[in-house]
Amino acid sequence: MKQDTKIVNAGRSAKWTNGVVNPAVTRASTVVFNTVAEMNNAVANRHNQTMVYGRRGTTTSFAFSDAMTELEGGAGCALYPSGTAAITNAILAFVKQGDHILMVDSAYEPTRDYCDKILAKMGVSTTYYDPMVGADIEALIQDNTCLIFLESPGSITMEVQDVPTISAIAHKHDCIVMLDNTWGAGINFKPFDYGVDVSIQAATKYIVGHSDVMLGTATAVEKYWPQLRDYSYLMGQCTSPDDLYLALRGIRTLGIRLKQHQKSATKVAQWLQERPEVAKILHPAFESCPGHEFFKRDFEGSNGLFSFVLNCGNKEALTAFLDGLHHFKMGYSWGGFESLILGITNVNAIRSATTFDCEFPLIRLHIGLEDVDDLIEDLSKGFERFNQVLANS
Ligand SMILES: *Cc1c(COP(=O)(O)O)cnc(C)c1O
Repeated sequence: MKQDTKIVNAGRSAKWTNGVVNPAVTRASTVVFNTVAEMNNAVANRHNQTMVYGRRGTTTSFAFSDAMTELEGGAGCALYPSGTAAITNAILAFVKQGDHILMVDSAYEPTRDYCDKILAKMGVSTTYYDPMVGADIEALIQDNTCLIFLESPGSITMEVQDVPTISAIAHKHDCIVMLDNTWGAGINFKPFDYGVDVSIQAATKYIVGHSDVMLGTATAVEKYWPQLRDYSYLMGQCTSPDDLYLALRGIRTLGIRLKQHQKSATKVAQWLQERPEVAKILHPAFESCPGHEFFKRDFEGSNGLFSFVLNCGNKEALTAFLDGLHHFKMGYSWGGFESLILGITNVNAIRSATTFDCEFPLIRLHIGLEDVDDLIEDLSKGFERFNQVLANS
């Protein structure tokens, strides 16, 4: 089945749809049984998408898990109430006191905080590594290293990692490979074809796609699926069927949305590349982005999220740029239908193993589904305000 056909059909097995087009929203805490045999049978099948108790999931969560497994691959998908919960709980499922993990230096900030503030307290140590480490990751593996965590492209700075090389070395040393695949969205990067063991997504972003639900997923290969699933259950992780319904609805347009995000973001990035104020485009499909060669080799496409570094400016000029925008609102998160912008002046505050070389502000954009010419005009006026402040300072 081709990708777009998969997207239409994912999770829509007759078991979950009951003869209509979409899986039903099954809201439940208690599941009731009439006979001892029925109850015993349900408990015996608790790992086979059988309803036993609301926390273990209902037909809506089974449909969404199926859909994510069909998109990403792997043996099963555990669901969490946010992307951050997916990351922290997936790591927790595979570490114990005394273990060591390797974490990419360009990781999403809350992922770092979890390592530094929670794992450390439990006696699990973290070494941060250069996202461009490649085969040199081997030198960082210790006797007690059990897990290597990747995020590709990296948060904010967008480095694309050499996933298959790192995965092969990790496996040689019996380390589990986890990837934050939120940017890939289950469409543009196929984690299990490149040696990943657990692929995590903030479904909050492109899967939901409309900025109205928090949701996380962790999809695992056969070898690790039972442990991931059991730990998710043991930690009491569960998700609302109404939110899952919205995520299932979001999936139906994921392919077509990503194509449009990609088209518009590419146009904006090309326009920015010609601006005299721009030092560097950090978009995986552009040669100036670290790891561009791995993007070309391993990815099927891009999306609406990228960054760029300025070659001039200061906080005041950046503020003038940001404050007057009409279409770009400032906000954390991305992956919805709307454009967003973040101005960042302290990239190195969230790095420790590497120094990101930028003297001037970095701007991260999420290019939404608005008409791209309106977006470019908005940014163009932003540069006028920016330059005016610089000229007067
Ligand atoms: C947003 C994001 C997360 C966290 O997702 P939440 O649902 O906001 O907790 C994790 N990783 C990446 C790369 C993200 O962009």
